[in-house]
Amino acid sequence: MIRYSCSHCDTEIGSISLDAAEAVLCQIKSLDEGEKDSFLSVNDEGTHIRCICEHCEQSLKAFPDYYTLKKWLQ
Ligand SMILES: [Zn+2]
Repeated sequence: MIRYSCSHCDTEIGSISLDAAEAVLCQIKSLDEGEKDSFLSVNDEGTHIRCICEHCEQSLKAFPDYYTLKKWLQ
């Protein structure tokens, strides 16, 4: 099982079975090491893919500066 969560607000977006995730994982594995790390984390709970939820995606489009600021403050 692979879980997806939002990298901005930590909301769990959903989970998919390994079979369904295989195509996604192939894409991620073809990325550079650094890029891969920012998407994918593997820990005791399993594989975790960080992406962006619908809510944050919309906010990001509307207020890109806000998220840049938030990132700096973290
Ligand atoms: Zn979010």
